[in-house]
Amino acid sequence: MRVLITGAAGFLGSHLCDRFLAEGHSVVGLDNFVTGHPDNIAHLMSDVRFEFMRHNISTYTYVSGALDGVLHFASPASPIDYLELPIQTLKVGSLGTHNALGLAKAKNARFFLASTSEVYGDPLVHPQTEDYWGNVNPVGPRGVYDEAKRFSEAITMAYHTYHGVDTRIVRIFNTYGPRMRPRDGRVVSNFIVQALTNEPLTIYGDGSQTRSFCYVSDEVDGIYRLFMHGNHTPTNIGNPDEYTVRQLAELVVELTGTSAPIVHEPLPVDDPKVRKPDISKARATLGWQPTVHVRDGLALTIEYFRRLIGTPHMAPRVARERPAGL
Ligand code: UDP
Repeated sequence: MRVLITGAAGFLGSHLCDRFLAEGHSVVGLDNFVTGHPDNIAHLMSDVRFEFMRHNISTYTYVSGALDGVLHFASPASPIDYLELPIQTLKVGSLGTHNALGLAKAKNARFFLASTSEVYGDPLVHPQTEDYWGNVNPVGPRGVYDEAKRFSEAITMAYHTYHGVDTRIVRIFNTYGPRMRPRDGRVVSNFIVQALTNEPLTIYGDGSQTRSFCYVSDEVDGIYRLFMHGNHTPTNIGNPDEYTVRQLAELVVELTGTSAPIVHEPLPVDDPKVRKPDISKARATLGWQPTVHVRDGLALTIEYFRRLIGTPHMAPRVARERPAGL
C-alpha cells in the first residue's frame, strides 16, 4: 500500500509512519511542524519508501500518484496547545478533515480519522462506551478541540454514507511514550520532565481526577489493526487501566527516584473528572488489547526523556509564534 499520514512529524503520526514502513508499505508523511518536530522523522528521511511534504492540511492539498489510505492525524493534541492555537485547532479538525476526506475520495483510498476520547467531554457514563454521546461544553476552552473532533466524526460518517468512502474512526484515549514533546503540557510528559529536572510536580486540583494511560506501541497496534480490519463505526483504542493523577505523580516519583516535591495548582476549566475506555468492541472486532503495563511504559518514557536532558527540547516553554498563513 501507499498511504498518506497527516501529522507525520507528531508523536503518534511518527510512530504510525514507522509501523506502516515496518509492515512493508510506502508512506507519504505530511506535516507543517506547528506541534510536530522534524527530529521525529529524521530517521525516515533516507528510506526510499518514505516521502515528506511540508504542508498545512487545512489548505487545499494535492498529492501526486496513487494512494490506498489517508490517515488524518494532524492536530494540536495537548490542552495548552489548543488553548494557544484555538483557530488552527478548529481548522485542522474541520477544513483539514474535509480536505483529507476529499483526497481519499479522489484517490479511492480508505480514510482513517484520529478522533479522541474528548468527544465524550466530562463524561457522565463511566467507563466510556462508543454509543455514549458525550457531555461537551461547546464554548469552553476545550470546546475548540472537542467540537472540531465531533465535527470531523460527523463529516467522516457523511462521506461514508453519501460518497461511499471506506472510512474508519478511532477514539484515542490518553497515550504516552517516546517522542512526546517534553514541554507539551500533558500530564505524563510534565511529571517526568519535572521529576528529571527537580522541578515540583504540578498536580492540577486535588489529583483525584482519573485518566487511563496507553503506551504508544499498544495504541499504534490498535490503530493499525483498525485500519486493516475494522469497520466504519467509531472504535475506542486505549488502556482501561485507570489511575488518579495523584497516583500517577507518585508512580513517577518512585520510578525516577526524584526528590522533587509535589505541588498543587488550580484545575483547568472543564477538566474531565474521570476517563476510561470500554474496549469491548476493539477486543471483539480486532482481537486487540493493550499489553504494556504502565510501570514498564513509564520506565521506557523516562529513559527517553533522560536522553533529552541538556538539549534545547527540555528548555522551558515559551509562547509560540503563529506560523504565517495559519
Ligand atoms: N494535569 C496535572 N498536572 C499537569 C498536567 C496535567 O495534574 O502538569 C492533569 C490535568 O488537569 C488532567 C490530567 O492531568 O486532569 C490529564 O491532563 P492532560 O493534559 O495530560 O490531558 P487530558 O486528558 O486532560 O486531555
